[in-house]
Amino acid sequence: MTKPTHRCKKCNETYEYRNASIVFKKKCPHCIIGELEKVDSKPEPLLTIELDDETSVPRVHYKGQELTGKASVFFDWDTDTDVMGGLTYAIEHYESGSYPVSNRIERRVKGHCLE
Ligand SMILES: [Zn+2]
Repeated sequence: MTKPTHRCKKCNETYEYRNASIVFKKKCPHCIIGELEKVDSKPEPLLTIELDDETSVPRVHYKGQELTGKASVFFDWDTDTDVMGGLTYAIEHYESGSYPVSNRIERRVKGHCLE
């Protein structure tokens, strides 16, 4: 999957320009008048867990996809300061369909994998 590097400020059309000299004139080939700006090229996070308040259902994005039908979300991270720390996360979610399917994503990293 390629990611656009530039976006037109006027018509929102996106382009992938690896060669910076093409962007030199900074006009949109689609609408002709729009100026091009760089799209933030920050890499997508592996996992985000958002919680609006203590009673809300967490929004979980894993590898760029929002997970729906969540049954449980677990996240535990320990520092390396005294002993080797680690990371464990586990998300259980259900797929909607003609019959129930439950998925569990679980990863244990570094020290947590030795427990
Ligand atoms: Zn444009």
